[in-house]
Amino acid sequence: MFKNRQIDWANPHQHPQTGVYVCRRCGAALFSPAQKFDSRTGFPSFWGHLGQNVRFHLLDTYGRERTQLLCHHCGGHLGHLFQDARTPSKVRYCINADSIHLQEKD
Ligand SMILES: [Zn+2]
Repeated sequence: MFKNRQIDWANPHQHPQTGVYVCRRCGAALFSPAQKFDSRTGFPSFWGHLGQNVRFHLLDTYGRERTQLLCHHCGGHLGHLFQDARTPSKVRYCINADSIHLQEKD
């Protein structure tokens, strides 16, 4: 979505504000297009989430710490949280495209 655009993160008015990314299973509002981040990983990525609807679950698999992201309402798996110095919050929500969809506002 931001592929051919340079985003000025300091200017909130430059981000599209319409619509909201919701959980595909239960419809809970999870992410704002204003916090979308072009990570060039092929996964939808964000640098923050809405309200209290995303739950963090610390995993310790094979001695490697990862933070799993779950929908707070239905417990659905959303993706993982990573450190990323490129984002305003220094973290990146790496989301499975199948777990969310964009609900457009009229
Ligand atoms: Zn859900």
